Order: sequence, then structure tokens, then C-alpha cells
Amino acid sequence: MFKSSWTYHEAPESTDHIQIKEQYELYINGAFTKPVEGKYFDTINPSNNQKIASIAEASKKDVDKAVKAAKKAFKGWAALSGKERGKYIFRIARLIQERAREFAVIESLDGGKPIRESRDIDIPLAANHFFYYAGWADKLAYAFPNRKVKPVGVAGQIIPWNFPLLMAAWKLAPALATGNTVVLKPAETTPLTALKLAEIIHDSGLPKGVVNIVTGAGATGAEIVNHPEVDKIAFTGSTGVGKYIQNAIAGTHKKVTLELGGKGANIIFEDAAIDQAVEGIINAIFFNQGHVCCAGSRLFVQESVANVVIQKLKDRMETLIVGDPLDKNTDIGAINSKKQLQTIENYIKIGLNEGGEIYQPNCNLPKKGNWCAPTLFLNVSQSHRIVQEEIFGPVLAIQTFRTIDEVIEKANNTPYGLSAGVWTQTGSKIFHLTQKLNAGVIWANTFNKFDATSPFGGYKESGFGREGGLHGLSSYVTFD
Ligand code: ADP
Repeated sequence: MFKSSWTYHEAPESTDHIQIKEQYELYINGAFTKPVEGKYFDTINPSNNQKIASIAEASKKDVDKAVKAAKKAFKGWAALSGKERGKYIFRIARLIQERAREFAVIESLDGGKPIRESRDIDIPLAANHFFYYAGWADKLAYAFPNRKVKPVGVAGQIIPWNFPLLMAAWKLAPALATGNTVVLKPAETTPLTALKLAEIIHDSGLPKGVVNIVTGAGATGAEIVNHPEVDKIAFTGSTGVGKYIQNAIAGTHKKVTLELGGKGANIIFEDAAIDQAVEGIINAIFFNQGHVCCAGSRLFVQESVANVVIQKLKDRMETLIVGDPLDKNTDIGAINSKKQLQTIENYIKIGLNEGGEIYQPNCNLPKKGNWCAPTLFLNVSQSHRIVQEEIFGPVLAIQTFRTIDEVIEKANNTPYGLSAGVWTQTGSKIFHLTQKLNAGVIWANTFNKFDATSPFGGYKESGFGREGGLHGLSSYVTFD
């Protein structure tokens, strides 16, 4: 994902022919609809903090309209054959591919991530997700042999701002393949690609009410969670909001899946291919500015190679380009919002106050917008807050270890259990660690690789339920 320093310069991606409206409405019952209370909020470009567009803010009444539309559409959609449902989902996948450039530019403008990432990772993976689940739509009898499955009903889906289109795809595709209808809410700082997706869904001819997209902040999300006619909540976001949702639906009929925070351990053994491991460390923590729930934000290096790994890591950090998300050379884009920048800066202060030794490369951060230099901390231990708490930014905490048992104990010693990485040339070590690490996703000699066919999800305070793969179908069906 990160290229080593290049010798030529490509022009920034142009915004010509990218259609962004001045004002966006809600997508309810197959129509772009003004919010009942007439309220709008701004979506901001985090690389210069300028307004991009006005976005409708859905109130309780709008959410109710969306849920009612989804409920009305449910019977017909669930009764369609899997083959017919699959055709619509395939069509959505193809339309995303056709408009991939537009999606990539808008994703980078609205969210701040480097265009190389939105172009090569987010948007193609989002299309893949629709293709993959379109393929399952007429094969549910094979997914659940000898069981009679039914869709759950109306799914309320609430997604975060770090992978806006991709998270919409992760949630919508399996829900539609299994015959559910949906009310989806994108995050308030990154609504634009979900609204573009609404246009595509409209163009695909999907029956009205099957997918409704409402925009707004936490209050709108809470209206979805608390609506009595929503049958399932699928949430990706912070552990704090995840806990709130679980409390809010306790005692109701609603099914729920929660994909929450993480504090992934990235473990480098002395027999690892060191240069590849260094690239892997960079990718694990600086991909998407570290706004990644499965980021490798805790690095554990075996003591005998610690000096060389840390030196190479510092050298490599010097080559990282922080800047304009639309520049194809950019490695690290803008921090998604002022609020998130404050959170990250606060954690950097906490790290310093707790005695951590900071390292940041010499990089010229742009004057306007939200920026954070890639940062690492040495001299930290298990009890430091920056080792325990999710920062969700480009900040890495480094510790060393001597034995396998020691690193397993340290790696598992957080409230989270989402991801981990293991770097070694020894296969048996990989198998040993994958058994012992409490993490839903464990990468070996790589990091932050995603694929529609692989289940993703966490343990402990990282949540429950799996998205992706065959497992991703289960949370959208009930059994007779
Ligand atoms: P962050 O704190 O990093 O912004 P959040 O977990 O607050 O992440 O946001 C993830 C998603 O959850 C967003 O779409 C946000 O609007 C939504 N959200 C925030 N608060 C609530 C809530 N109380 N109920 C439902 N959704 C919420």
C-alpha cells in the first residue's frame, strides 16, 4: 500500500467530471427526500476544513419513514428468488466499478485518505463485496445445508468514517443477499460516498424501500437503534457507542452484531524477513492515517533484533509523504476531523507525560487542515495508556520481548481482541501463535489485508459477529 520513495511526480488526481451537489437529501422509499424538520449539516474536507456540501439531518420522523418503507418493502424483497435478488446486487457491483474513479476521488475529498488507497483498496474491495454476496444469493441452501433460513427483517446499519463506502458494502451486500431490507446511516463526517451509492442503487432499479439511506450524527443513529420495527442492528464504530447500543436493545427482539475498537499486536520475531517486516509495520499502523480498528498499533519486537528494526523503521518513516489526499504520491493523508485530531494529539501528550520517548520524522505538515506526523513511542510498558487504549491515529507504541510465552501474554493483555500480526520464517511459530492470540483476525507475514471471502470480527471489547465470507451471512438470517 505504501510505495518506497519515487523519483518522479504524478499530478494530483483531478476533480474534473466529479459530480458533487451543493445539497444532499435523504434516500427514503426510492426517492431523494427532504428532511421533515428541514435541518442540514455541513460535510467538510479535512485537508483544508472547507465545506464540501450540505447534508440532510434525519430526525426521528425521517427515521420512522425510512423504517416503515423498509418494512413495507420486506415482504416482496424476501419473496423474490435468490437468483433475482442476486441480479440486482451484481448490478450494484458493476455500477460501482463503472464509477470507481468518481467514488475514489469523493472518498478522499470527504474523508482525507490518500487517493492511492481509495482507488486501489476501498473502492475495488467495496465492489468485490457486492460481487461476492451476489453470488451467495441463490446458494443459501448450500450455505446452510438442511436448514430452512429466513431473512431477519429490517436491518438498521450504522457505519463509521474510516472506510465509508467499504463499510456500507460490508453491511448492505450480505443483508440484501439474504432477503433483508435496510436503513443505513453513514457517519456524519463522511456521508458523500454512501449518498453516491444511493444514486447507484436508484439507477440499479432496486425495488423502492429495499435500501434507505439516512444521514445525521449520533442522535439519528440512536433513533435507528431504538425504533421498535427494526429487527437487527449492525454497528461498526467505537466501543463506547457499541456498549450504548447493546444496553439500548437489551430485552428487545433485536439481533445485533458489533464491530468495535482494537489495539492490534504486531509481533516481529528475530527470524523474520526484517525489511519486509518493516514495510509491514508501516502498513499496519500508518495505512489510512491509523484510522483502522484492526491497525497494528502495538509493536512487539524480539529483543535481539530490536535495534535494527527500530532504526530501519525510523529511516523508512523519514520517506513517508504526508499531505494532499488527492496527490498520488501521498502516503499519509489528512486526519478525518478536528475532533479526531484533538483525540490523537491528546494521546501523544499522555504518552509524553507517562515518560514515553517519542520519534517523529521531519515532515512539513500543510498549514490548513487536520494533520498528524507519523509517530512512534519507545520506552513504554503494558501499563501505559497509549499501550492499552485505542488512539485511532498514526501513533505506534513499541515494546520488546524475549520469549514466545512473554509476547503472547503481553499481546493478549488488553480489553480488545480484534487483530494481530506475526512475522517469522518458522511455520510452527505461526500456528502456535494463531492458537494462543485472542484476536479475530491474525495475519502472518503481512498486515491489513482484506478479502470479501474472509470473515472479520473480534473478541472481548472488540465486539461480536463476523462480517465477510460465509460467516457474514449468518447474522442476517434466522432458522425455522
Ligand atoms: P467516533 O467516536 O470515532 O466518531 P462513533 O462510534 O461515534 O465513532 O461513530 C460511529 C457511527 O456511530 C457514526 O455513524 C455515528 O454517527 C454513530 N453513532 C454515534 N453515537 C451513536 C449512538 N448513540 N447511537 C447510534 N449511533 C451512534
